[in-house]
Amino acid sequence: MTTKDYQVIIVGGGPAGLTAGMYTSRANVKTILFERKMPGGQILNTDVIENYPGFEKITGFELAQKMEKQARSAGLEIAFEEAKEIWSEEGMKFVRTSGGVYSAPVVIICAGGEPAKLNVPGEKEFEGKGVSYCAVCDGPLYTGKKVAVVGGGDAAVSEAIFLTKYVDKVYLIHRRERLRALLHLQKRALSNEKIEVIWNSVVRRIEGDDTVHNIVLENRKTGEEKSLAIDGLFIYIGFRPNSGIFRDKIETDEAGYLITNEKMETSIPGIFAAGDVRAQLVRQITNAVGDATTAAVAAENYLLEEGWL
Ligand code: NAP
Repeated sequence: MTTKDYQVIIVGGGPAGLTAGMYTSRANVKTILFERKMPGGQILNTDVIENYPGFEKITGFELAQKMEKQARSAGLEIAFEEAKEIWSEEGMKFVRTSGGVYSAPVVIICAGGEPAKLNVPGEKEFEGKGVSYCAVCDGPLYTGKKVAVVGGGDAAVSEAIFLTKYVDKVYLIHRRERLRALLHLQKRALSNEKIEVIWNSVVRRIEGDDTVHNIVLENRKTGEEKSLAIDGLFIYIGFRPNSGIFRDKIETDEAGYLITNEKMETSIPGIFAAGDVRAQLVRQITNAVGDATTAAVAAENYLLEEGWL
């Protein structure tokens, strides 16, 4: 088997991966980062970021571009390949991607995650035809129309606010009678006259023909079902880690997040994890880049201690 050899392999090119890559590359550690789509990860789906220090307001796209540029200038190599398998042999780690097999003594997993699905009839069928998980990408398509957003967390509430830039009406559908989102987001949403919250309700079905026409909601208190006419449905009900290829090899929590110690090292020495794929309380850009800094420095120490540098 021919392998391409590196000192560090990074899986995932969101803020965590790009930060880890910037740090290891600046330390002259030969690093390759695999990204299956476009560097930036989830921030590419975020309109405006207002909580990343140093930038009062910056678009997700612009921040992603800046992070990529900075990491590349530090010497990071980025390959647009998907990691498919990982294994370890006598301390050396191997990653099989869509482009070949790569080896390195250190792997830093920054694979992030994906939006959770409602798993109701019509969701799959209408994805891209009225069902969306990305308001930034699809919001403008609903200019002057009516949409619904499902969820009560930060993502649902901030994206509902964002959608009011385009649409006439946003129904925010939440399964309880209290939102989970940060208070300042709640206040902004509840005082926005385009947003109407439908409390204690869940989506049972999504219906339409070529595109979505209505959703069927069930009131969890009364059991009553009602149909709501909408043109688009945005689903923001949380997040699932992209840990599938690692789960049988690396210790995870019940939800599949990779468990790390304070050095961001997983249950396998030399394999680190950073960002949203890691089990932790908060999933923000700020702590993803913090995790990645720790992981990169700990990775460099590991290479030195194990005699690879
Ligand atoms: P989240 O905080 O886990 O919230 C998920 C929401 O969806 C909850 O309100 C939950 O209801 C609801 N939900 C879950 N499963 C559902 C189902 N099957 N049907 C209907 N509703 C369902 O997820 P998130 O909003 O995606 O945020 C993820 C992380 O990113 C969080 O740490 C968040 O702080 C962060 N984030 C931050 C910002 C920001 O602007 N600072 C923006 C976006 C995301 P319950 O409340 O009843 O559980």
